[in-house]
Amino acid sequence: MMKWAGLDQLQLENRFRQLPAPFYQSVTPQPLKNPHLVAFSTEAAALIGLDPCQASAQQLSEYFSGQRLLNGSDPLASVYSGHQFGGYTPQLGDGRAVLLGDIAGSDGQRWELQLKGSGKTPYSRHGDGRAALRSVIREYLASEALAALDVPTTRALCIIGSETQIYRESIEFGASMVRMSPSHIRFGHFEYYYYSRQPEQLKQLADFVIEHHYPHAAEQANPYLAMYTEVVERTAQLLARWQALGFCHGVMNTDNMSIIGVTLDYGPFGFLDDYQPDYICNRSDERGRYAYQQQPSIAMWNCVCLAQSLSGLVKQADLEAALQHFQPIYAIAYTERMKLRLGMLGKTTQDGDLISRFLQLLEQQKADYNEAFIALEQALDGEIEPLTTLLAGAADFTPWFGDYVDRLEGNATVIMAQHNPRVILRNYLAQQVIERAELGDFTDLARLYGALKTPFDAPLSQYNQATPQWGKNISLSCSS
Ligand code: AMP
Ligand code: MG
Repeated sequence: MMKWAGLDQLQLENRFRQLPAPFYQSVTPQPLKNPHLVAFSTEAAALIGLDPCQASAQQLSEYFSGQRLLNGSDPLASVYSGHQFGGYTPQLGDGRAVLLGDIAGSDGQRWELQLKGSGKTPYSRHGDGRAALRSVIREYLASEALAALDVPTTRALCIIGSETQIYRESIEFGASMVRMSPSHIRFGHFEYYYYSRQPEQLKQLADFVIEHHYPHAAEQANPYLAMYTEVVERTAQLLARWQALGFCHGVMNTDNMSIIGVTLDYGPFGFLDDYQPDYICNRSDERGRYAYQQQPSIAMWNCVCLAQSLSGLVKQADLEAALQHFQPIYAIAYTERMKLRLGMLGKTTQDGDLISRFLQLLEQQKADYNEAFIALEQALDGEIEPLTTLLAGAADFTPWFGDYVDRLEGNATVIMAQHNPRVILRNYLAQQVIERAELGDFTDLARLYGALKTPFDAPLSQYNQATPQWGKNISLSCSS
């Protein structure tokens, strides 16, 4: 049993420092002005054995605004690169986050703590190293919401607000957020050492990742191939979760792809409102490279970039063979998730067809994606009206519904209720909370957070309404 600790007792190490100097530079966080606690995730705290009762707002503000360092913390910023919108950028890196260190978690694994928005680092390029309050609120809510929906993701421990002014499209206040993950290593870390022709460092990095995250790969004939195979699998599984949920990441550059297959770097993300496969949540993505329906193939493209980086360690034919697993793993996992949402147990040959006909109906009728699953559940419970309001305008609705009901077996609605969230972090909900928070009122933020943490328990409440017309298809810019 792990003992609960206060902030003063947390003991960090920094295993990333096993790697030699070219991988990172030491950075001292630059304190924010007049910091104050905005939000704190007790669920994330539990993962590292941090006792919420021993973490006062004052202490959290001091430790996570850059004023103080936790015991053992020796912060650093790491260098990486990446393909951004298809083009290679030779040098990126932790431009506005520092790795504070890592700590043993209550589940036996180690969690890295990163402080985001802590000021300039050697990799800030033209940026100020800061993060706007609105952007960390979005990341905090999204990461904790996806975690509650069982989607692999980085976590968020807390947000600290401040009176430090930052300059975006207007003047805003800077804030910081503590992000947690077993690893923050990206595909782009590998690309950096590959394209800068540093094969020794690339191998060191791969060995480090295998040692800490894929230890079983070390026992395989080619550990690097085993690691790559698993990264491909995890990425395909992750994408299946995103797609089934209607989550759009928005900036699937290779520097935002996690080597352990978790959702990483929340920017202009969005959840589908109306089912619109070509929905683009990122205003800067004019061509829709990262549109909702493109995400699985982009993830695979990113896996090709990773394969290229590993080409000195693994034979090309083996990398290609591993990559071939992406599509079938994705397809099976996606179908499984969709079947759970539709309450379809067991397996029949018509399952794929029933799912795609359902999606065609949603698209034709411009129906709200997540609301449609709830409406189906209600219809099966005898309340047909919400469903007919959404879909009955389509000529194909009645035949589809007949086939679907014939296909069901057992108590479908029990399964559906466990897989169809009652609350989704729609952009307009986040926006409302942000506007209050910018005025210094965090009660709505805490309330929405509470609902997102229990997405299947929430009564059909204010949060489960489909998006009002004014809030639909908000598309956000990368500026954050
Ligand atoms: P992103 O689009 O957030 O994934 O960021 C791409 C790159 O820009 C990463 O190297 C970030 O660290 C860096 N970056 C983004 N915003 C800032 C900022 N305000 N200051 C410094 N670097 C930044
Ligand atoms: Mg990024």
